[in-house]
Amino acid sequence: MQEMAAKGGPSARPVYALSIHADYQCHQSGVCCTSDWDVPVEVALYRSLEQALATGAVRPAGEPHNGDPILLIGDDLPDEAAAMVARTSTGDCVFYHRGSGLCVVHRDAGHQQLPATCQHFPRLAVRDGRGTSITLTHYCPTAAAMLFREDVALEIVDAPAAFPPAEYEGLVITPEDWPPLLHPRMLMDLAGYSAWERHMVACCARDGISPESILATLDRDARQLRRYSRATGSIADAVAALPQINVPADPHRTLDASLVMYADLLKAVPADMMPEPDEGGLDLAYANGVAGQWREWRLPLTRFLAAKAFASWTAYQGRGVLTIVRGLEAALALVRVEAARQVRNAGRELDSDLLREGFRQADFLLNHLAAGDELAEGWSKVED
Ligand code: SF4
Repeated sequence: MQEMAAKGGPSARPVYALSIHADYQCHQSGVCCTSDWDVPVEVALYRSLEQALATGAVRPAGEPHNGDPILLIGDDLPDEAAAMVARTSTGDCVFYHRGSGLCVVHRDAGHQQLPATCQHFPRLAVRDGRGTSITLTHYCPTAAAMLFREDVALEIVDAPAAFPPAEYEGLVITPEDWPPLLHPRMLMDLAGYSAWERHMVACCARDGISPESILATLDRDARQLRRYSRATGSIADAVAALPQINVPADPHRTLDASLVMYADLLKAVPADMMPEPDEGGLDLAYANGVAGQWREWRLPLTRFLAAKAFASWTAYQGRGVLTIVRGLEAALALVRVEAARQVRNAGRELDSDLLREGFRQADFLLNHLAAGDELAEGWSKVED
């Protein structure tokens, strides 16, 4: 099992996505180009990009910080990278043109000349024996806005228009790797795991279900599934036999439990990426500006949970189905915290703009700051 950059060339591997993400298109928000991120340049691309820079076919839009070269070469490059793209003193990629919001590599050399990281953001893929499952990081504002859409029912779809067959960057599960664990002492088969993944998404799509009820329902279902015995049939049969009745649960009246989970999440963030502490007044902001509005945003919140349940890396990095549910719980806790932060900073009650920003910041921490395997290890304690 490894995290891999994309390789060129089409693949016959089937692709799956959530219906709400299936027609994703980049709206050039520029967020991914101005976030002070490392952008590795693959070996083959390095040669063509270097030539394009030498001939003037591509010209950087910004000045590299400290007079650095445009393509930075060093000893500590990631595997398969020949260089990193330089950044400006404000953390923009040197190829990002602020005036137009365009990437000059994309504009002047085409999509295929983009580094793999840029071609694949905001996609988060898992490649396993079933095919490629793609969810999105909602740090991308366009992806975050898709959580609010009401024009499409929530479900898993195959052959999504936005994601044609390709070798997507992400978590690659080889035939030698273990399938997801049902619990620390039993492996699932892929049919059983597919059934559980579809069950989680279907639960998120139930009429009128609240995000808290999804967590309570899936917690009950995961605990029932852990009692599975081979004598009673397949794991997929056991998933099909799970109760269809929701477990009721109220929205949180305080932020206390979510702040505890937030502190736990931060343990998976490397020291040099740790955000400055900024939790003062969040409990008050939650009580006064989030708790009363929370039910109104049931739809995007339940869809956010579905986007975490589907194409889950935790399924492969954690120690059972209860770990996956624990990860969903942590993700929702993080949205409460980030929604409260937006409300506190804006000085107004939760609205769609603030919640969208809350989703963005939650996924920034979950997908771009924290180490996924460390998160999964921490959440796996629930299996003991
Ligand atoms: S190379 Fe282009 S798409 Fe990639 S980060 Fe730079 S400006 Fe953005």
